[in-house]
Amino acid sequence: MRLALFGPPGAGKGTQAKRLATAHDLAHLSTGDLFRAAIRDESDLGVRVASLLSAGELVPDDTTNAVVADRLETLGDQGFVLDGFPRTVAQAEWLMGHLAGAGKSLDAVVSLRVPEEDLVQRLSRRRTDAETGAIYHLDFNPPPSDLPPGRLVHRSDDQPEAIRHRLSVYERDTAPVEATLRAHVRYFEVDGTGALEDVQGRIEDAIAQDHGLAGI
Ligand code: ADP
Ligand code: ADP
Repeated sequence: MRLALFGPPGAGKGTQAKRLATAHDLAHLSTGDLFRAAIRDESDLGVRVASLLSAGELVPDDTTNAVVADRLETLGDQGFVLDGFPRTVAQAEWLMGHLAGAGKSLDAVVSLRVPEEDLVQRLSRRRTDAETGAIYHLDFNPPPSDLPPGRLVHRSDDQPEAIRHRLSVYERDTAPVEATLRAHVRYFEVDGTGALEDVQGRIEDAIAQDHGLAGI
């Protein structure tokens, strides 16, 4: 199964991608995580993209597509769930062409719908475990009390100014991708609010509609 989760920053793509990957033995391919790992490693890529991530700007399409191509190459025929990619119309067109070149396609795109006021609240209270990548929310999904405090990260792009900017970048550059995806791929809208397991269930129900989860 080849899936992509779509939606604005804070919609729950990372949270649900991890759950789906674990439940269905899929690789989780998050471009944000790949960029943050490159920044931590101080690789050439990391040095090039660090200030873009802090400011909430998108990384250029060519750079992003190359990172995805590398990762897809290592996956071979394993199924995957894309999280945070594609984020521009050019990335979506590249992805479909790239997969088609290998005789593949996306099986489904699931768009997570969450009211804008919830997004800001979710992002400003998001914390991540620097070691495992686990995603928490200080109120809704608090980190375990025995987690060493040094491991809990408040991302630099989860500060108010960068959050506002990322939401406007989403509206300008990413929201238009919906039309491209709808034209080419089975596209489902799912309510992204409520308990994590309920959101996961809605995603699985949507995909199962005419595909069958056995194929995941
Ligand atoms: P995205 O990858 O789309 O930016 P995340 O999965 O990182 O979103 O989630 C953003 C924040 O919202 C995190 O703090 C996460 O714990 C929280 N969150 C995720 N799903 C829900 C939900 N269903 N209800 C409330 N908070 C959620
Ligand atoms: P969130 O889920 O909260 O929006 P991500 O972890 O997906 O955050 O992305 C963090 C940052 O990484 C983005 O603000 C952007 O700078 C960069 N990034 C991630 N994915 C892409 C992409 N597909 N194209 C361009 N830049 C990206």
